[in-house]
Amino acid sequence: MNMQKPILSIRGLRKSFGDHVVLQNIDFEVQPSQVVVIIGPSGSGKSTFLRCCNGLEQPDSGRVEICGHTLSEAGQMLGDQPLNHLREQVGMVFQSFNLFPHLSVIDNITVGPRKVRAVSRAQANSEAMVLLNKVGLAEKAHAMPASLSGGQKQRVAIARALAMQPQVMLFDEPTSALDPELVGEVLQVMKLLASEGMTMMVVTHEMDFAREVGDIVVVMDGGVLIEAGPPDIIFTNPTQPRTRDFLRAVLNRA
Ligand code: ADP
Ligand code: MG
Repeated sequence: MNMQKPILSIRGLRKSFGDHVVLQNIDFEVQPSQVVVIIGPSGSGKSTFLRCCNGLEQPDSGRVEICGHTLSEAGQMLGDQPLNHLREQVGMVFQSFNLFPHLSVIDNITVGPRKVRAVSRAQANSEAMVLLNKVGLAEKAHAMPASLSGGQKQRVAIARALAMQPQVMLFDEPTSALDPELVGEVLQVMKLLASEGMTMMVVTHEMDFAREVGDIVVVMDGGVLIEAGPPDIIFTNPTQPRTRDFLRAVLNRA
C-alpha cells in the first residue's frame, strides 16, 4: 500500500473545445515513482489530458492537483506566475523536439536553468554534462541540433527537460516522429529514468515499452478513461471490448 501523497491527482476532469467534449469524468492519481503509460486511439484525448496536467490547457471543470499545488479547479486556473513556477516542476517532452535551432546542444539544455533557476553558467554547464552523459550524448555537447538524428534530438530534449529538475515527466508520443531504428535509443533513456525512480506519464504506441516499464496502463477512448490497470492485466485480460479492439489493431500492425 502506498501511503505517499500522489504527485498528480485529477478529479472529475472535463475539457471541451467549443461544443466538442474532448475529456470527461476523468478521475486519476499518479503516485511518486510510478510510470503511467497512456494508450488509446488517435483523437481519444491523450494529448489534451497531458496538457491539462501541466496547465497548457484549461479544463472546463474538475480539479487538477500536481506536485502539491492545485493547478485548476472548477474552470479556474492558477495565476500566471505560480503556473509558470509549477510548470518548472513538470517536464514535458513532445513528439516534435522543439530544440532551439540557433543554440548548441549544451546551450539548449542550460538556457532554462540559467534563466529560471538562476544558476551560474559554469554550474549549468556541469549539470548539463551530467545529463548529456545520462542520455549518451556527451560528445555532442557543442553540436548544433540540425546535425543530430531525430533520436539524438529527442534525447537532448529529454536532457533539457531534466535540467529543470522536474518532479514528474510527461511524454507525448516521444518516439512517434522517429525512424524505427532510432526508437530504441529514446526508449532506453526513458527506461533508465524510470529505473531511477522518476515519476512519468507516457503517451505511446510502443506496447513493449508499456508492458515492460509501465506500472499502470491507462486506456483512453472517446475522451474517457475506459480502464486502467497493471500491464499484465490490460494486455492479457482487459475488461473493456474497446481495449481489446484497440490492442488487436495496434499489435497486428507491429
Ligand atoms: P490524441 O492525443 O488522443 O490523439 P487529442 O487530445 O489530440 O487526442 O485530441 C482529442 C480531440 O480534441 C480531437 O478530436 C481533436 O481534434 C480535438 N482537439 C485537440 N486540440 C484541440 C484544439 N486546440 N481545438 C479544437 N479541438 C482540439
Ligand atoms: Mg496526441
